[in-house]
Amino acid sequence: MPLHEKSETAYAEVLARNPGEDEFHQAVREVLESIGPVLGKHPQYTDAKIVSRICEPERQIIFRVPWEDDQGRIHINRGFRVEFNSTLGPYKGGLRFHPSVRLGTIKFLGFEQIFKNALTGLPIGGGKGGSDFDPKGRSDREVMRFCQSFMTELYRHIGEHTDVPAGDIGVGGREIGYLFGQYKRITNRYESGVLTGKGLPYGGAQVRTEATGYGCVFFVEEMLAARGESFDGKRVVVSGSGNVALYAMEKARQLGATVVACSDSDGYVLDEKGLDVELLKEIKEVRRERLSRYPETVSGAVYVPGRRVWEVPCEVALPCATQNEITGKEAEEMVRGGCTAVGEGANMPTTPEGTRVFLEAGVAFAPGKAANAGGVATSALEMQQNASRDSWSFEYSERRLREIMRGIHARCRETAEEYGMPGNYIAGANIAAYTKVADAMLSLGLI
Ligand code: GLU
Repeated sequence: MPLHEKSETAYAEVLARNPGEDEFHQAVREVLESIGPVLGKHPQYTDAKIVSRICEPERQIIFRVPWEDDQGRIHINRGFRVEFNSTLGPYKGGLRFHPSVRLGTIKFLGFEQIFKNALTGLPIGGGKGGSDFDPKGRSDREVMRFCQSFMTELYRHIGEHTDVPAGDIGVGGREIGYLFGQYKRITNRYESGVLTGKGLPYGGAQVRTEATGYGCVFFVEEMLAARGESFDGKRVVVSGSGNVALYAMEKARQLGATVVACSDSDGYVLDEKGLDVELLKEIKEVRRERLSRYPETVSGAVYVPGRRVWEVPCEVALPCATQNEITGKEAEEMVRGGCTAVGEGANMPTTPEGTRVFLEAGVAFAPGKAANAGGVATSALEMQQNASRDSWSFEYSERRLREIMRGIHARCRETAEEYGMPGNYIAGANIAAYTKVADAMLSLGLI
């Protein structure tokens, strides 16, 4: 799709200033394409170079992370924190530990986070961080030493009113615990609101672990309901088997769906009777083992190595692994196989070609920045509980999450209709979020 002339300059600047950062370019391009009709109708949204300002992070921090492995060998990793936009609240967004992480990866995620966080309706700005550290195969003590070293630099940049990191790929409850411990030790402050995704005994919130997966399913439930359908009896395929995937599967099952397949980076597991989510949790979260162990316990299930989970036909697809995991060809195959709804649990898991295929085929498509906002929304609820030294019940927290996801769905749907693109949740999400952030930035003056 061509860009509106007013955002062409901003996009050219992004390309020139951030060479080689393809994922960042892709995320920016998608938002700028969507907001074309807004810029045409309401010229104030290009005032004071607002488009260019939104595309430039407020601050980017890159640091050295030295640590020692169990054999006494020294390793040097690179740490990042991109503080992208603090118009709506403190920078908020996860930390990703994965060997593929580069500055451009963090910029793409931080950029998405601004709009996702705006859609939640809660007062949080956008940021993201991480490292090229590979936690795979590392012992508990190695992970602890890495997290302590990472926080020894990061602590000076964050704070409950400044920047509040959380988890993402490679960073779960264990890592947040080590990071929080080191922050507390260095600062001598019990500042629980400085990190979210904490364990329940030390300031964590009920439903935070489940929130991204549950929230994604709640969003898709709303999207299906708008078409007079439900999850009941639907055949679902999920990619990934991490935190997001596990709880998306759990909630989809609770709503009556049959989840037949999920994956890891080596292949996928297929169980036509429906996957046993409790067993998957045991394998992945408790034993920290590979998915290929699943068929050892369940007869009739198979592990298919070296293949892509999208070859399994489904009615609802929930990509919950990583970015750009559904190509145009795969999307075509999925549509042929009967897929009519997609909910992105991961950040930007569908390529631009894949997205085009789904939209042209009339698939109900929930973009990540709307569908997976339940995680960060529940992080904002954790910050609320920390600030008031309170802790809420599971039931109440889940109810809040469900209301938030309903609100996001309604906002995306209404905005898409207002701009003459009914059913286009990508346009709805991008326009609703962009106008909110841009309005606030214009109110605050040139900063
Ligand atoms: N990493 C998650 C996301 O992509 C959660 C961020 C948070 O809770 O701050 O939205």
